[in-house]
Amino acid sequence: MSTQPTASHFINGAYVEDKAGEEIPVIYPATGEVIAALHAATPAIVDQAVAAAKAAQKEWAGWTGTERGRVLRRAADIMRARNHDLSVLETFDTGKPYQETSVADATSGADALEYFGGLAAAITGEHIQLGDDFVYTRREPLGVCVGIGAWNYPTQIACWKGAPALACGNTMVFKPSETTPLCALKVAEIMIEAGAPAGVYNVIQGYGAVGASLITDPRVDKVSLTGSVPTGKKVYAAAAEGVRHVTMELGGKSPLVIFDDADLENAVSGAILGNFYSSGQVCSNGTRVFVQAGIKEAFLARLTERLKGVKMGDPQDPDVNFGPMVSERQRDIVEGFITKGQEEGARLVTGGNRVDKPGFYLEPTVFADVSDDMTIATDEIFGPVMSVLDFETEEDVLRRANATDFGLAAGVFTADLTRAHRVAAGFEAGTCYINTYNDAPVEAPFGGTKQSGVGRENSKAAIEHYSQIKGVYVRMGDLEAPF
Ligand code: NAD
Repeated sequence: MSTQPTASHFINGAYVEDKAGEEIPVIYPATGEVIAALHAATPAIVDQAVAAAKAAQKEWAGWTGTERGRVLRRAADIMRARNHDLSVLETFDTGKPYQETSVADATSGADALEYFGGLAAAITGEHIQLGDDFVYTRREPLGVCVGIGAWNYPTQIACWKGAPALACGNTMVFKPSETTPLCALKVAEIMIEAGAPAGVYNVIQGYGAVGASLITDPRVDKVSLTGSVPTGKKVYAAAAEGVRHVTMELGGKSPLVIFDDADLENAVSGAILGNFYSSGQVCSNGTRVFVQAGIKEAFLARLTERLKGVKMGDPQDPDVNFGPMVSERQRDIVEGFITKGQEEGARLVTGGNRVDKPGFYLEPTVFADVSDDMTIATDEIFGPVMSVLDFETEEDVLRRANATDFGLAAGVFTADLTRAHRVAAGFEAGTCYINTYNDAPVEAPFGGTKQSGVGRENSKAAIEHYSQIKGVYVRMGDLEAPF
């Protein structure tokens, strides 16, 4: 792989290796082969990365927003120009098909860099007149931000966190998932090439312990995690020890509600996108598909038909549209849920099996007649497993859709305009869809309610989470005091 990074970490503008760290084998999910071996950061590497970010922060924050934005926009251009190579690498890292990675990963990262690059110059405070006196506010960076990534979108996550952080004048130490460590290094390389000063964006590798040591470093001001709810609880608690800012992008078990009057073809498309894109390894997936009685049989029949269009194979082949699970471990976890679904009495409509080829492939799987209390309807599976549940009334489905501790996303398909908005308003979720599913443009806020998260990524809302306001009171006249 010509695009493969040359060392484990990228600190202060250069690749750094320290083989004393625990080995991290990089396994290509499509074959099970080890394609690279990196090393987890030792305490010395963690220290070096945080020190570099700390040292660079004041100068970076001293640049004008226009200057910082220019760097981000240049980085976006470089990413777009290298989209092919970056997509090939993303496919090696994650196993997701090139058909997806070439349109959803480096391109999405570039969108974030471009959007926040454009916004950087417009990050301002305000003026509040109080008679002759006034207050002005300064929107200031938080300082050193730590980003910790999940394995499903390694390039996108590195950019979704890095772009708003840098736009606001922060610096970053990013730790990718140990399962997909390659892509973020390329993002760091590109930042430097685009003109970011050394130390502004650093990447170090490691398992959970490296992430944990970053959070409690006294030089760190903010932690943004993309990961599971159990990890989120640990990271949030550790950040609280130092009263650090957090963004938590966590898991979900989102509802997708399909009413009788929905356009059948669009509803099936939504269910496919919300369950099988990236082989189901998407946090916002609508994995509880509630289908109203009148459309249920037609929905299942058309879905089964459409799933014949799945093409598994070498994910680097642009015709392949369905890849393996990211790891053997994840495949085993998902298989365990499939077995549980069968044991608990759900009806297997299609799929359910391992595929007889090297790599960690699983068939797209659909269960029908799923009840609310079955494990496949309550737990996040993070694989290609759709649960179809029946419902009769709007009131009933909304209550059941919300009966979960998760609140990441939710979707509704219906031709009834007022019902669509009423249901969207009733969903207890941060990211909702009407007659579509899983679109994630950088212009729109993304994030969860309840246990699915704290804060928002993307959109202008992200600026709130990477900056803080200072109010400055200015008195124009004499100051009276009681004595
Ligand atoms: P994970 O929680 O196992 O790991 C996430 C990251 O946290 C990894 O980099 C890991 O090394 C690190 N980590 C683990 N323990 C830690 C600790 N104690 N302190 C600091 N860091 C620690 O998640 P995963 O398996 O990599 O990813 C899948 C999960 O991520 C799913 O639950 C999915 O829903 C969620 N996810 C959420 C979003 C979102 O935007 N809401 C996006 C993608 C994935």
